[in-house]
Amino acid sequence: MSQLIQGVRGMHDILPDEAERWELFEELVRGWLRDYGYRPVRTPIVELTQLFVRGVGEHTDIVEKEMYAFEDRLNGDHLTLRPEGTAACVRAVLEHNLVNSEGPQRLYYQGPMFRHERPQKGRQRQFHQVGVEALGFTGPDIDAEHIIMCARLWRDLGLEEHVSLEINSLGSSDERAAHRQALIAYLEQHKDLLDEDAQRRLYANPLRILDTKNPAMQEMVEAAPKLTDFLGEESRAHFEGVQDWLREASIVYRINPRLVRGLDYYNRTVFEWVTDKLGAQATVCAGGRYDGLVEQLGGKPMPACGFAMGIERLMLLWSEVQGDAARVPPDVYLVHQGEAAGRFAVRVSEQLRDYGFSVVLHCGGGKFKNQMKKADTSGATVAVVIGDEEAQSEEASFKLLREGGEQRRIPAAQLGETLAALLYNVEEEDGSV
Ligand code: ATP
Ligand code: MG
Repeated sequence: MSQLIQGVRGMHDILPDEAERWELFEELVRGWLRDYGYRPVRTPIVELTQLFVRGVGEHTDIVEKEMYAFEDRLNGDHLTLRPEGTAACVRAVLEHNLVNSEGPQRLYYQGPMFRHERPQKGRQRQFHQVGVEALGFTGPDIDAEHIIMCARLWRDLGLEEHVSLEINSLGSSDERAAHRQALIAYLEQHKDLLDEDAQRRLYANPLRILDTKNPAMQEMVEAAPKLTDFLGEESRAHFEGVQDWLREASIVYRINPRLVRGLDYYNRTVFEWVTDKLGAQATVCAGGRYDGLVEQLGGKPMPACGFAMGIERLMLLWSEVQGDAARVPPDVYLVHQGEAAGRFAVRVSEQLRDYGFSVVLHCGGGKFKNQMKKADTSGATVAVVIGDEEAQSEEASFKLLREGGEQRRIPAAQLGETLAALLYNVEEEDGSV
């Protein structure tokens, strides 16, 4: 026998028990986004590498070491599996001229992202994000809307007690430049404490050094010049505006002056929702304003802000808090025996689905008794039983599996209505049962 081929390291299968939970989550999320007027956009998983180099930033972890970049064997194009969703979303909006032709856009996307990182709990090489982008709004109302809508999602998921909000302002590019100068001067004074990454970033991207996870650098970084002290009038007013809206919505937050984003294109508002339940992988949702990105991608300047949440981390948190949910059972498990019964069963199962029931039709034959065992372990609410005798008289028997009770035999044509009345308290047309 040849050796089994395994999946790629850091890329996971999501098996049915878990995938059902994902679908529940995704349905909830889609409803939540619709309730705030956000519309879906789907972009390809592969983009030109240049999009991410320009859109994410050359001196970021993502571009420096995490991208799945490759050359198209046939035409030599430099391509990359998307490591995040914002750059592609903005590219699509610009390419199709959406904002100019339709006005400001509230958009969302969802799907797999790829980063070549060291796999660990809550950190995969293929992971999934839901991302929200608002293009063409100057804020601060829209910045606040994003944070407020997150808070509602946490409530809907029952997670509100397990996440907390940190915000900061990164100011404008001029303010960042002034802060940058002060920061570089400060870091130069502490050069002996800088690790290899920090040394390399000292002049290229010193802000990122504040984001370090190296414990040996914490104290030094703690005392570094704070960007908030460099904010000018407008940035300060914008940041105040966001906070006013948050207070209005009774959102509790903490200003974290060291909160910067891993991606280069952010300005003004940045925020993160963090949890203390997932160890080092604490951030479940992160976002903010990125007014500079559109221009960086070759468009006319356009204000923008957004956020992304890591679905794996949210699912981990969700099961931690709620426990593992049981599988989603079918309404009906249909058992049948005999040739005529088999053919009739197919018809009945389709009729029941017309009625809106989920139906598992037993396949593979076997004794009634064994089929009934399968019906029971499927978690179905009702077993419908069809033998050749029932098929002949166009009848069907059914049994409520969870409440016990006798098996009843009725005309198959009445089955849908009867079950609806029993399961969902829907009135039968003739009022009987
Ligand atoms: P981190 O500091 O954890 O590396 P990041 O700054 O790289 O996060 P973003 O690029 O802002 O993360 O992505 C937004 C969210 O996507 C994160 O908060 C996290 O929930 C999730 N995420 C990012 N990278 C991964 C990964 N490799 N595996 C699983 N989830 C991830
Ligand atoms: Mg990262």
